[in-house]
Amino acid sequence: MRFIMSLIGVTLAAAAPAQEVDDPLVRPIAPEQASKWLTPQPPTRIFGNTYLVGFGGLNVALIRTSAGLILIDGGVPQAVRRIEDNVRSLGLDLRDIKLILSTEPHWDHAGGIAALERDTGATVVASASAAQVLRTGRSGPDDPQMAWLASFPPVQRVRAVRDGEALRLGDVTVTAVATPGHTPGSMSWTWQSCEGERCARVVFGSSLNPLAADPYRFSAPVNRAHLAAFRHTLERLRSLPCDILLTSHPAQSDGESKVEQLRERPEHNPFFDPRACRAYADGAERKLDERLAEEAAGSTP
Ligand SMILES: [Zn+2]
Repeated sequence: MRFIMSLIGVTLAAAAPAQEVDDPLVRPIAPEQASKWLTPQPPTRIFGNTYLVGFGGLNVALIRTSAGLILIDGGVPQAVRRIEDNVRSLGLDLRDIKLILSTEPHWDHAGGIAALERDTGATVVASASAAQVLRTGRSGPDDPQMAWLASFPPVQRVRAVRDGEALRLGDVTVTAVATPGHTPGSMSWTWQSCEGERCARVVFGSSLNPLAADPYRFSAPVNRAHLAAFRHTLERLRSLPCDILLTSHPAQSDGESKVEQLRERPEHNPFFDPRACRAYADGAERKLDERLAEEAAGSTP
């Protein structure tokens, strides 16, 4: 009997699908937490050259240009295969991705960038401060959340850009807008999208969430410059030309329901909202003020 069982065991093992090769660049980070953001969402054209190829709770944007594709953010490592499938399902070639722009060097938005960089051959672009973190996969003590952060696969080649720098690829120019606050290196990106005569200024906004892990305090004297930069970010977003706002976390701008509305009634594009950037900044400022009040009262979580 034992002999027969072992024979069956051998047969079953032979019939089982080949084990997937372990790929260190797509090893899951915090799978339980991340799975909440990874609600499947079909790749969606938002307007003109602008698409979303990420998830219900985590945005990854794609811009089509006359000389290739630009990707914004890379999600978590375990999401890379699905992002790549989304790009391919639009009939596009991964090797046409020439630039990968990063909004912040945290594992939830940048954890997948190393795998995407390898698979596409694209150049990764970030602020100087974010570039330093992307190259090592680890944040320094200037990051308000350092004590919480998981490290992520380091990116091989990162090009650092300054605030206001323009990146041209074919017929599209994307401008870097430094938006420090959530992290010192946070960067938002803006470009123009057109459909026929109608053109829109699109903004992909970095996260503005004023989260901090012990012992970081936004109100500490040592962080005075960072807090001032955060306030400046909010002021800047209020005056930025902005017809369409996409945010790295869709929930921060009602993105998931807008995608649904767009699918149901494409003739009324819900992403057109000239007040969206202002509302985004106002919401973040309320949270920042709450956080500062907690710090002053000694009641930070
Ligand atoms: Zn973050």
